[in-house]
Amino acid sequence: MIELPEAFSIAADLRKTILNKKIIHVGGHFTDHKFTFYMGDPNQYNQLLTNKMVTNIVERYFYVEIQIEDYTLWFRDGANLRYCQNQPLPKKSKLLLVFDDGSYLNMTTSMYAAIGSFKTAAGCDHPYYQTELHTIGPLHPDFTYAHFKNLLNEQTLKLSAKAFLATDQRILGVGNGSVQDILFHARLHPKRKMITVNENELKCLYESLITTLKAMIAAHGRDTEKDIFNRSGGYRTLLSKNTYKSPCPVCHHPLCKEQYLGGSIYYCPHCQK
Ligand SMILES: [Zn+2]
Repeated sequence: MIELPEAFSIAADLRKTILNKKIIHVGGHFTDHKFTFYMGDPNQYNQLLTNKMVTNIVERYFYVEIQIEDYTLWFRDGANLRYCQNQPLPKKSKLLLVFDDGSYLNMTTSMYAAIGSFKTAAGCDHPYYQTELHTIGPLHPDFTYAHFKNLLNEQTLKLSAKAFLATDQRILGVGNGSVQDILFHARLHPKRKMITVNENELKCLYESLITTLKAMIAAHGRDTEKDIFNRSGGYRTLLSKNTYKSPCPVCHHPLCKEQYLGGSIYYCPHCQK
């Protein structure tokens, strides 16, 4: 799933590979709408985007935009991108961009994904897209401790730490995956109610949020996700599907895995109160 570290690493890779390349064909199997949600008619993509240049790549927090002259293509969630050179065209594709040098960018879906295209000047009124544009993300200079603390109100104080951080696009770019290590470093249990979190713990949580996200970006994404060259990210997750069978890296107590709020949570019952 694309969260902040992956949005940044995918965008960095796309800048190196497809920027200033001309699209000569747009394809894909658009009929399976069960797990891939298209915005705008995907059957029109070829007509709208072919013979145009990739003019810019923009990383957001939960998604990536490819600007193709007067159009913007965006994708998020479980969109898996792979860039290939000198290889036959793929059989499975939710979106395929073929470039004039013979290379291509192919998108498939794991779990679910959304892909959209819109005329840049007209903008995109999708609520998810609009929320991202108008919310101060965790890497923005205005995302201070005071700003973070202000996100707590009568409603959000009732939430668990995981729900507070990783639902409703409250903290842009933080989802089911990156929230695990953020909470581990803050020594907070994912189900801990925010109303019980004291000032020191809240400061710790803020510090952990910023430093963990920066570490994930610096390492080119998490090791649970793949980049566009099919390589795992360099950030070694402490709590994830890769590690939960190992003991806690701090106290060596066995880690726990549970289903909670639409995804797995991993935690150390000893370190995370
Ligand atoms: Zn522990």
